[in-house]
Amino acid sequence: MVVEFHLGDALTLRKAHPCGGKAWRVERLGADIGIRCLTCGHYLLTSRRKLERAVKEHAHPAAAPEAP
Ligand SMILES: [Zn+2]
Repeated sequence: MVVEFHLGDALTLRKAHPCGGKAWRVERLGADIGIRCLTCGHYLLTSRRKLERAVKEHAHPAAAPEAP
């Protein structure tokens, strides 16, 4: 399954950051995806594949919820 990421998407990761936060926001798209920890502000560049596996919850704040 292909997961689409958009700028500004809110992500909850399975594993907490060392700062204790699990909430991240998508800030850069491309072959690698940049996400920012909303708790400590740390910026992380990771591969799309790794991120897809790490994400527990994924919200598109800008878009309306899609019907299943
Ligand atoms: Zn953090």
